Parts: sequence; structure tokens; C-alpha cells
Amino acid sequence: MDAHEQLSVLDTSCLQKFVDTLAVNGQYPLKAAGVDVLQMNICRKCNLFCKHCHVEAGPHRTEMMSKSLLEKCLDILRNNAISTIDITGGAPEINPYLEWFLDNASQLKRRLIVRSNLTLLLEDSYRHFIDSYVRNNVEIVTSLPHYKAEGTDKQRGKCAFATIIEVIKKLNARGYGKENSGLVLNLVHNPTGFYLPGSQPALAREYKSRLLKDHGVYFNDLFCITNMPVGRYLEHLQKTDSLSDYMTELVNAFNSAAAENVMCKNTLSVSYDGQLYDCDFNQMLELPTETNAHLDDFDIGTLSHRRIVLANHCYGCTAGSGSSCQGSTEKSEK
Ligand code: SF4
Ligand code: SF4
Repeated sequence: MDAHEQLSVLDTSCLQKFVDTLAVNGQYPLKAAGVDVLQMNICRKCNLFCKHCHVEAGPHRTEMMSKSLLEKCLDILRNNAISTIDITGGAPEINPYLEWFLDNASQLKRRLIVRSNLTLLLEDSYRHFIDSYVRNNVEIVTSLPHYKAEGTDKQRGKCAFATIIEVIKKLNARGYGKENSGLVLNLVHNPTGFYLPGSQPALAREYKSRLLKDHGVYFNDLFCITNMPVGRYLEHLQKTDSLSDYMTELVNAFNSAAAENVMCKNTLSVSYDGQLYDCDFNQMLELPTETNAHLDDFDIGTLSHRRIVLANHCYGCTAGSGSSCQGSTEKSEK
């Protein structure tokens, strides 16, 4: 499904309801309050083909951020006080300039995140990335939908769980996930069915104890992320005739406290071609920032106060405890 078809399936005519709900809570218009995170989607190619993928990434994709655009990102980061560089894909390691970029970006002394599916890191041509991640103090975020193999393999493909655990063992051996090592490994949980994630602190405790007991591995934090009705997950909802029920669940679970901290308020998403978006989901739906901004005309002043472009999928960020690339947006006691 292309972006246009996805938007028509999402029935943007119902967007007014989301706007009205925000307005009732004094949260409309939704505006950015700075740019603290530059999230760069540097390639849509991936070795996996996960069922929940909002990017619709896979081995067939070819889109890749060029070295000149990566250099442009470095220039922007050098010239602006953006605290976090968040690299995603596809599988970011497939971009041939990732290692070069990390060596340069780490000089800027910002928080440097790579969202890696980890499974490539067992292959000869990619295993050197573990050294690169350690050398550049990269924070690794990886998706592990469930702490049992069955739940993870159902979404990520056969044997994905075993491969991810094997790589986590290698990362643990280098210090990742160990308290006070400075090397951070965070996991992502997302539901394996058509429902909202459970409590993040409770799931974090469950993941920690089960992964340690069953596999001897450890990690720092768990981020719970709601499956967004975008990309392959949207197709899956449609094929199983579950879209209407799922959207109703998201709408009914609207939480103004979660809406207060949606990630677009401090994040800017960059596509492989340099186009700027309010978030990675808007990127996939081809909904650019209100001024249709590109890296070439990056203006932190304007972007820091931009009005966020909304559509029905935004209900995914505001439902229940809220959802973002850093997990729940409604912070609670651990
Ligand atoms: S969810 Fe991540 S690992 Fe899975 S296909 Fe999409 S980009 Fe690749
Ligand atoms: S989907 Fe994107 S634009 Fe909408 S609320 Fe979530 S982060 Fe903001």
C-alpha cells in the first residue's frame, strides 16, 4: 500500500475528532517545543521482514541516505544544540556510511542511538559493528516483542529470537547492559496481537527476570511501543478485518497526559532523501512538516515552533500510557 492508500484507509475525515479532543484538553494546536532529537532514517532496506514494520522495510527496498546528506546532518548537528542523534532504518548497518558517520558523530559528544535489529551482527561482513558501537559509545535499541521465542518469532521471523539472544550475549560480554559500564542496551516490547501494551515498569521487571533466568542475558531499560496503524501493521489489520476495532480501541483509550509528551514535540525525523517530518510515522505516510522543510533549508528557529501535522494514526501515540520511540510517554513510578 502506498502512502496515499494508507491515508485513505485511515479515513482522515475522522481527524476532526482527534483535533476536537486535543482542543477540549487545551492541547490544540499541537506544536513543537524545540528540536532535541534528530531521528535519521538512513535506509529502508532490511534483512528482516517483520509483520509489525511501519516502514515496510525488507530486503527488496533500495532507499539509502547518501554520504553527502549524512555530512549535511553532521553540519546541522555541529551548528545546533540538538542533544540526541537517533539512527534508524530499515537495518541501519546496511547503509555503507554508518560506521564513518558514527566515528564522526561521536566527536560531537551527543547521545548517540542506533536502532538495530541485531541479527546482522552475527554475519562476517557486519560483526565489526559491535566494535564500532563500543568505540563510539552508541546506545543500542533493539526490538524484542516478547521474552519468549514464540512471540518474537511470530513478528520477526523464524529463529529471530535465538539470533537476537546470541548477539545480546556478545554485547553483554563487551559491557552492554551492565550497570555503570556506560554502554546502554535498551529493548523494545510491542504487543504481538491487536491490543495496547501493558504497564512498562511491570513488563520491564518480567523481561529482566525471564531473560536472565532463561538465557543469562541482561539489558538496561524496556520501552513499550504501541503498534501504529501504519505500513505493514496497517495492512495486517486490514487483511484480518481488525482495523475498525483497533482504531476504536486507540480512540477510546485517549489519554491527555500521554498526549502532553508525544515525541513530535521534541523530535524531528529525517528521511533518506533529506525531507523533514514530525516523526517516522508521518515520514512513512509522506506527511512532511507544515513548511515542507528539507535538510537544505534547515532552520532551527522555525522548526522548533512548528505546528505538528496530524492524522488518525496519532491516536496510537496518545492511547493508554502513550507511546514513543522512548517507550511510554506517561511516566509512572518504577
Ligand atoms: S521492524 Fe525493523 S527489523 Fe523488522 S523489517 Fe522493519 S526495519 Fe527491519
Ligand atoms: S504520530 Fe507522529 S505526529 Fe502524530 S502524535 Fe505521534 S509523533 Fe506526533
